[in-house]
Amino acid sequence: MSDAPTRPLPAVTREMAPFWDAARRHQLVVQRCEDCGALRFPAREVCSRCLSRRAGWQPVSGRGTVFSVAVMHQANHPAFAAEVPYAVVVVELEEGVRIVSSIVDVPAREIPIGLPVEVVFDDVTPEITLPRFATRAGPSSRPGSPGPP
Ligand code: ZN
Repeated sequence: MSDAPTRPLPAVTREMAPFWDAARRHQLVVQRCEDCGALRFPAREVCSRCLSRRAGWQPVSGRGTVFSVAVMHQANHPAFAAEVPYAVVVVELEEGVRIVSSIVDVPAREIPIGLPVEVVFDDVTPEITLPRFATRAGPSSRPGSPGPP
């Protein structure tokens, strides 16, 4: 098995290091502007809303819905050859930010737009934990939603 191609891992940039540190602790965080409060992902140096450079990191719920799905029929890296077709999804979190990820429990061609999902953490190496997403119960189970009359 040692001659199997190694999966490419995300390059941890200085800007995104707090995100990967949190993922290792199984926590999902996004960058937050300290002046206007706008959440953003991936991290950027300047707030696109107010141009502030002051930013911190905030834990988010990890709950969201599938915003878009792209099904890959060709492996763009040899390590993914056995997984074709696989899906790259964009998840819109309840907090409004969108994260590119993958779904762990639904076949690539069967992932519906709007699917309610929540984050799960895939410890790939001691350094890298990938936040991925799994199906969760629908929005009706959300606390505070109106029940039957
Ligand atoms: Zn701002």
